[in-house]
Amino acid sequence: RGADRGSRRPRPTRASQDDPEAASAPMNVEQLRARIRDVPDFPEPGIVFKDITPLLADPLAFSTAIDLIVLHFGRGNVDKVVGIEARGFIVGSPVAYHFDAGFVPVRKAGKLPSSTTSESYELEYGKATLEIHTDGVTPGERVLIVDDVLATGGTARAAANLVERVGGKVIGLACILELGFLNGRDRLGDLDVFSLIAY
Ligand code: AMP
Repeated sequence: RGADRGSRRPRPTRASQDDPEAASAPMNVEQLRARIRDVPDFPEPGIVFKDITPLLADPLAFSTAIDLIVLHFGRGNVDKVVGIEARGFIVGSPVAYHFDAGFVPVRKAGKLPSSTTSESYELEYGKATLEIHTDGVTPGERVLIVDDVLATGGTARAAANLVERVGGKVIGLACILELGFLNGRDRLGDLDVFSLIAY
């Protein structure tokens, strides 16, 4: 399937004119962690929102995060990447590109235009519904689910149920960070759950 895109990186950055080695070195986990911003009481009192936008805005942090996910699951092992609306789209799309995989959105109810299947699940307050196109995944395809934050695991569990219902085989979940004290992994059974940063 054409050129080996994986061989293109690491890319030079502007800083590489001064120090090529430093500029192309990936960041370590603590450098990634330093680019997560805690926003207290958002979107409601008592919640500390983990804001990944500083990480996304830093070219080396963003490319390191994507590269670490691709390295963990390995090229050739994923047919489709399912990104969960909305931050899962941002993280999942470059992961899909580097896998030579297709990208499939899982969206909130009513957003996908064609035939869908849906799954409702409990949130802390109330319910949420996610949907996938019924033809988004071909039966038997190996699917990696991608989101920004794994909290209680309800969202990832619902996405995995959707993928399985349309015939896909979920191989794992990749996320930027995991709130370990909420035990979201426990709801994901045997899936390979890979998070870059644990809290
Ligand atoms: P959960 O279903 O509890 O695992 O929640 C995961 C979803 O809610 C993800 O799509 C996250 O984007 C979002 N989320 C939950 N808690 C947080 C948090 N503390 N900071 C940022 N996003 C969160």
